[in-house]
Amino acid sequence: MRNNKVDVIVVGAGPAGSMSAGVLARAGVKVLLLEEHKEVGSPCHCAGLVSPRTLTLADVVGQELALRSFSRARVWGPRGSVAWLESDRIQAVAIDRAALDRMLALRAEESGAHLWLGVRAESFERVRGGLQITAVNGKGREKLRTSLVIGADGVHSKVARWFDGRDQGELLPAMKLDVCFDDASTNEIEIFVGNTIAPGWFGWVIPLGNGQARLGLGARGGGLRRRFRTFLELVRDRFGRFEMLEQRGWLIPVRPSKHIAFDHALLVGDAARQAKPSSGGGIYMGMRAGVLAAEAALEALEVGNVGYQTLHRYEQAWLQEEGEELRYNHWLRSIYNRMNDAEIDHLVALCDRPWARTLIRRLGDVDFASRLFKPLHKALETIAPRLLTKLSDRLHSEGSASMEDEFSTLQLDPQSIFKGRLM
Ligand SMILES: Cc1cc2nc3c(=O)[nH]c(=O)nc-3n(C[C@H](O)[C@H](O)[C@H](O)COP(=O)(O)OP(=O)(O)OC[C@H]3O[C@@H](n4cnc5c(N)ncnc54)[C@H](O)[C@@H]3O)c2cc1C
Repeated sequence: MRNNKVDVIVVGAGPAGSMSAGVLARAGVKVLLLEEHKEVGSPCHCAGLVSPRTLTLADVVGQELALRSFSRARVWGPRGSVAWLESDRIQAVAIDRAALDRMLALRAEESGAHLWLGVRAESFERVRGGLQITAVNGKGREKLRTSLVIGADGVHSKVARWFDGRDQGELLPAMKLDVCFDDASTNEIEIFVGNTIAPGWFGWVIPLGNGQARLGLGARGGGLRRRFRTFLELVRDRFGRFEMLEQRGWLIPVRPSKHIAFDHALLVGDAARQAKPSSGGGIYMGMRAGVLAAEAALEALEVGNVGYQTLHRYEQAWLQEEGEELRYNHWLRSIYNRMNDAEIDHLVALCDRPWARTLIRRLGDVDFASRLFKPLHKALETIAPRLLTKLSDRLHSEGSASMEDEFSTLQLDPQSIFKGRLM
């Protein structure tokens, strides 16, 4: 690297950042990938459950990274209902998440990107023709020049704060724990829903085989540690005793950012809060965003204009590809947040009916919830009209003002959900 100057600096070597760095490096762009930790992929805050589509996007060969594959999951309602979500295909793969991160970063490096480990992007200033970023490591600080920065620095993104101080968004706290069961009585993904156990989110058990499993729970409204302890007791009662291995808490961004492109800067992945608001799945979304951002950056560098005028193509491409799905996910979450335990339990029971199981089997897709929920909703108009009317009335009674903020980031008109039907 000459004079500490590169075309693009990518901050953060998670899946989103390494995807961007790889695409750029392969196109011959000079890229520097900064990672504040000494090792890529560690510490890991994630449950590491992805769709087969994610592994294809990552160009993963065969069973590399895969620990277990699943084509079904069981959902436990708050008042005793249980539904099996079964698919004709493999829907989810539990992977070695740290190994995915390492693989993507290594690929970017092999393509020509410089990877600096143990180096944190600290501050920035605008200079003629670009940006100067101050990076710190154990020994001191270094000034780096670049035309463009891609902020892939996760949920606490500094880059997002540099360029968009206004947009704080909603972050949902979650905890995960790796365990080893003495003798687990389940071999499937188990999901627990309801306001008593996990208001606004859910708890999960992902068995990996050999007794190992990943447990986790997210919830709105505080008291997460207490809720997590209660959840662990429930898991112990239902599936057997386990030894606790590693526990971590982290945040899931559940409201996508309004602004993800700026003069000389782009945001990707959790830094842009691109995880799905209904499930928190952010690996696939972050990797796709990483590719789209790199493509927009390539175009901008080629025409010699890395201002918002050219970079906003990334925003457009992102909204075109994922906007509709994110809006739908966000809408689903808004409805779910307004349901009481009796309604949630009723919905779980409905999902176990033969007609619903057929829809789920054929249309379920962990990356695209709308493919299943839109037809499911249509069917509920006939099968459970009272439940839908109740939810619709609740949305109406809240008034659109309280939802304006909730929907504004997705350019979704709150009025549109007050027009008679739920969708
Ligand atoms: C409990 C939990 C479970 C989850 N489970 C799943 C799941 O099963 N499936 C799924 O798809 N998603 C899951 N997610 C979401 C998923 O983990 C994230 O969406 C994903 O990691 C986002 O990738 P990213 O590259 O944007 O950011 P990250 O993976 O967070 O990577 C950001 C990187 O930037 C580095 N960094 C930060 N600041 C700086 C700086 N200033 N300078 C240099 N480097 C910096 C960090 O060290 C980190 O390596 C889960 C999240 C949580 C909290």
